[in-house]
Amino acid sequence: METKNHMRIVFDSRPQNEGFARMAVAAALLPLNPTLEEMSDVKTAVSEAVTNAVIHGYEQGEGEILLEMTIEENEIMIRIEDFGTGIRDIKKAMEPLYTSRPDLERSGMGFAFMEAFMDELKVESSPGRGTQIVMKKTMGSREETYGSDDIFN
Ligand code: ATP
Ligand code: MG
Repeated sequence: METKNHMRIVFDSRPQNEGFARMAVAAALLPLNPTLEEMSDVKTAVSEAVTNAVIHGYEQGEGEILLEMTIEENEIMIRIEDFGTGIRDIKKAMEPLYTSRPDLERSGMGFAFMEAFMDELKVESSPGRGTQIVMKKTMGSREETYGSDDIFN
């Protein structure tokens, strides 16, 4: 059986496409037989990255968002890229509770969630050019992660 799969999707920067991105990633992950928790973790991380592209990258204006996914055996890589404003200080942006938009009632927890729900998070950005987020996760390592009540999943 072929164990490698790769997808690229480009969609408009619109709030409703957060749902589209979540569903696309969920559909791609189904063959890996993930637990509900794994599925929800990855969907949340994708939502946060897409929302950031819409709100911060394109400042709620027009633009395109690229979602790329590679699945190899039980390892997944998800790349989300925008071609918007970019981030000047990535270290500061990644601090929990830091937000540049308190006026929009953001809480500054997006990167913290991506970091918590995925095994690896890399952020690259250049001001005026855009931002790319690369996230990786190994699925099916749940014994270590979720403990014994996982038997019910
Ligand atoms: P929350 O995610 O809790 O609603 P937030 O989006 O401000 O709030 P993070 O997702 O952690 O918090 O992002 C922190 C900061 O990083 C943002 O406030 C913004 O300044 C910057 N940032 C994040 N993603 C992008 C992006 N794609 N383009 C430009 N700036 C970004
Ligand atoms: Mg955010």
